[in-house]
Amino acid sequence: MKTERGGWQPLRREQLIQELVHDSYKTKRKLAEPTRCPDCGAVYHDGRWTWGTAPAGAHEARCPACHRVHDRFPAGYVTLKGAFLGTHRDEILHLVRHREATEKADHPLERIMAIEDSGDGVVVTTTDTHLARNIGEAVHAAYKGELEFHYNKEENLLRVHWTR
Ligand SMILES: [Zn+2]
Repeated sequence: MKTERGGWQPLRREQLIQELVHDSYKTKRKLAEPTRCPDCGAVYHDGRWTWGTAPAGAHEARCPACHRVHDRFPAGYVTLKGAFLGTHRDEILHLVRHREATEKADHPLERIMAIEDSGDGVVVTTTDTHLARNIGEAVHAAYKGELEFHYNKEENLLRVHWTR
């Protein structure tokens, strides 16, 4: 597979499903169980982070998503551009936020970090690559347009570009 400069490679949508791994940002060593994130309250149990109540005496460690928020270092970047975006911005961003709410309900590490104007478009940053992919897929499914993915496997970063 062709690799671009800096470890980025373009991926087809079906490749992404196999390539994306779960984020372990700053939590490479195995966490004790149960562990509670002091920032968001998510609980690490049975090898995954979930929303729940930690038992008394649970360990404390920041989850990967809160580490990324704290470091301002997103895993996913979704860039939305084009004339159609300009005229349907509110509607599209509503869909983006709805997508996050749905994902986050089951997966505490799937969060939007920021939605910012980028001059000729909007950039949505996320704490996990899966949410970036899901947002791109959802916008494309609803509004068609052009959708591209660029993945950096070394650092587990995903860039999604949608244009219409
Ligand atoms: Zn957290």
